Amino acid sequence: MQPRGQFRVSVSKDDLVFSSAHFITYAGHRCEGLHGHNYRTRATVDGALDPADKLVFDFLELKRIMRGLCREIDHLVLLPTQSSRISVVEDGDRVRVAVDGMPRYLFPRRDCALLPLANTTVEMLAELLAGRLRAELGVLDVAGLTAIEVEVEENFGQSATCRMQL
Ligand SMILES: [Zn+2]
Repeated sequence: MQPRGQFRVSVSKDDLVFSSAHFITYAGHRCEGLHGHNYRTRATVDGALDPADKLVFDFLELKRIMRGLCREIDHLVLLPTQSSRISVVEDGDRVRVAVDGMPRYLFPRRDCALLPLANTTVEMLAELLAGRLRAELGVLDVAGLTAIEVEVEENFGQSATCRMQL
């Protein structure tokens, strides 16, 4: 029998998490203080069923990729390198952070994840992880996938999702 309908698979396991510190800026001069979240992620893949296996994508593989992406930023201070207000400068084994031109923090470099983002909002983190997931799937050269989504939840019931067509 030919499968009917459209298919998507998703994973949101207890180990697809990262516990990280960050702060974001808002329009005007508002800027949060440094704080942390236990972020949870969910990855979703849309696509055609493989005719032989009758699956869209291997859960094990999707979990492996997402675990790796979470691990890259786990237990670190997430800093945006493309902010117009937050300056992040590597200085040897340290990172100097200023906000609106005022020195704010000095972190050990090894404790920081410098991310190519304008702001470390949950939306931008979802976009970053979706882009990295897409790149990992590209390496695998998986046929039949049509779209991916990554959801990042920073608190219970408070999340953002980024969807990318493949
Ligand atoms: Zn926050």
